[in-house]
Order: sequence, then structure tokens, then C-alpha cells
Amino acid sequence: MSLLQVRDLKAFYGASQALFGVDLEIAEGELVALMGRNGMGKTTTIRAITRMLRTTRGDIRFDGQDLTVLPSFRAARLGIGLAPEGRRCFSNLSVAENLLASARSGPWDTGKATDLFPRLGERMSQSAATLSGGEQQMLAIARALLTNPRLLILDEATEGLAPVVRQEIWAAIAKLKQGGQSILVIDKAFSELRAVADRCVILARGESVWTGTPAGLTPDVETEFLGV
Ligand code: ATP
Repeated sequence: MSLLQVRDLKAFYGASQALFGVDLEIAEGELVALMGRNGMGKTTTIRAITRMLRTTRGDIRFDGQDLTVLPSFRAARLGIGLAPEGRRCFSNLSVAENLLASARSGPWDTGKATDLFPRLGERMSQSAATLSGGEQQMLAIARALLTNPRLLILDEATEGLAPVVRQEIWAAIAKLKQGGQSILVIDKAFSELRAVADRCVILARGESVWTGTPAGLTPDVETEFLGV
């Protein structure tokens, strides 16, 4: 059974429809890349899965449970950890306090998170507002991990970061995958996504239009759906 199963998902912002039929599955331990040009519905799909956006139709099941009937805090408690677009850490709290605020019991603790991101370990007492963009992204991922999620979702994992920091984040994602973490990741760095993904799902105009392995992402597919 899939860990996450999304079927024919439709989503609405008021009267405006943003998703018109998204299908997406993630098996335990799998890393799935959600791809598509700007505005195609990737973030909306994540908002629907995490129930931050509740005006949806279609099926969203997590470990067999119907997520569509749950508020977002209950979906999170089932084991969905999100590092959102724009990172959204508590800027007036320290790194340590940010981590503590999201911690739930399980194998991930502050020590393990700072092993993954040693830079955070060096900045535990610093306020999140004073971190670089890359460090804030590391903190956002660490916060999501400290919820001990069964599924980790990374929206725009490396957006706007310096190349060297991007590499650190991709290396951390590869380590998480090796450790068996199930991951859904959105990013515009297609070559890096291809290198870590087990499968890719492409959205166009609010619909999933292509699913396959990175090897199947031929230049034709990239030109048609990703504008590469
Ligand atoms: P990007 O790569 O630019 O972040 P995306 O693929 O994540 O894009 P979404 O942000 O999900 O795309 O947007 C999908 C559609 O929903 C777009 O037409 C967008 O304008 C619309 N949309 C997104 N957020 C809202 C909102 N809060 N209210 C109304 N419409 C929205």
C-alpha cells in the first residue's frame, strides 16, 4: 500500500479552481519529485495534502486514512512534516527554540538534526532572523524532521540559495533518502531532482500530465511539460 495516495485531486481558492485532477503516489521510502512550470499547481497540491487548503475534491489518503476530513494539525500528527516555501521559521526565536517548538518524540532529535546540518549546531543560540537564507532553509528542514514525519515534504527546497548551500541541501536530501525517509520534493533544479528522485510527477495547468522515472524524462518530455 502507498504511504500517500492522491487521486483526481481538485482544489479551489474561493470561486477560482487551481487543481483539475492531480494523481500522485508515494511508497514508503520513496523520493518523489513534483515538477512543473511556475503556477502549475505544485504548492497548491501540497497545501491540499497538508490540509492548509481544505476546499478540495478527490481522494487524499495517508497510510490508508482519509485526510480530506482532517484539519491540518491532525494531518501533521499523522506524520506529515512540511518545510514550506519561504521557510517560515520563528524569526524572533533562537535556532534551539525553533527546533524545540516542533519536536515530537521519535528518532529525530536536535543532535541528529545538527549532525545532518552541522552549521545549525554552531548557531543554536542565534535568533533565526540572523541566519543566512541557506541556514534558514536548513532550520526549516530540521524543524520538519523533528516532528518525526513518516513523509517529509520540501517545497522549493533550494530556491534562491547560493550554489554551495544548494549542494549541501541536496547532499542532506540524499542522506535522508538513504536512511529510508519518504520524501516529496519540489524544486526548479531539475538536474539535481533527477539525480535523487525515484519517480517524477509533472503538473501542467493543475493536472498531473506525466509520471515516470528520471530516466524517462527525455528531452521531448522536458520541452513539452517543463519548458527546458
Ligand atoms: P510556483 O512554482 O510559481 O510556486 P506552483 O506550481 O507552486 O507555482 P501554485 O502556487 O500552486 O503553483 O499556483 C497554482 C494556481 O493557483 C495559479 O494559477 C495561482 O495563481 C493560483 N493560486 C495560488 N495561490 C492562490 C491563492 N492564495 N489565491 C488564489 N489563487 C491562488
